[in-house]
Amino acid sequence: MAKKQFKAESKRLLDLMVNSIYTHKEIFLRELISNASDAEDKLAYKSLTDDTVEVKRKDLKITIVPDKQMRTLTISDNGIGMSKEDLESNLGTIARSGSGQFKAGLAEDDKAADKIDVIGQFGVGFYSAFMVADQVTVISRAWGSEEAWMWQSDGADGYTVTQCEKDAPGTDIIMHIKASGEDENYDQYLETYKLQEIIKKYSDYIRYPIVMEVEDY
Ligand code: ADP
Ligand code: MG
Repeated sequence: MAKKQFKAESKRLLDLMVNSIYTHKEIFLRELISNASDAEDKLAYKSLTDDTVEVKRKDLKITIVPDKQMRTLTISDNGIGMSKEDLESNLGTIARSGSGQFKAGLAEDDKAADKIDVIGQFGVGFYSAFMVADQVTVISRAWGSEEAWMWQSDGADGYTVTQCEKDAPGTDIIMHIKASGEDENYDQYLETYKLQEIIKKYSDYIRYPIVMEVEDY
């Protein structure tokens, strides 16, 4: 399947994330949890205005699953989900609020030091996953649709979108975590205690339960 290229400005932000010299790479989790929470909000809102959508607020939750064997970290939500078109337009282009702001910050001053500052200041969004992952897979099923789609990218040269299966509406973000090196201990992002610490630090205000599935030994 042919790869689609990211839009030019998305590519620039993506390059910055992939080659990030930023020391607080852990904020990727804040960004993905915030997106999951937004997706739950959108579904909760839809249920207020659309009689065909019946969701109980207490069923809405965000699930985090680290898997050391597979070296994956998965963030799942049972929110609004994304159609094929949503995946293409939302994850292939930077047009959204947080990332847009970030881009504006970059344009103001291109010096490396300022780049580092704006990463902390703004929500940098979905692409921050590429600070810790060498491959990101997004499996999503939009609410009201039977179809599910898989978006996949290694960050470098574009992305693919292919049809797949998913039991229920919502989104799984599956990150394949980079190998640890001199620059960073990426292994820690597969450790339950570390993930708990990051969640407590940045995502304490999230209104939905954040559930972590712990591996059996
Ligand atoms: P922002 O959150 O500021 O809009 P992001 O880069 O974080 O920017 O996300 C881009 C877009 O991708 C979001 O606006 C949303 O439309 C979509 N998106 C990302 N994650 C999810 C998700 N878990 N569920 C549904 N849509 C999502
Ligand atoms: Mg976001």
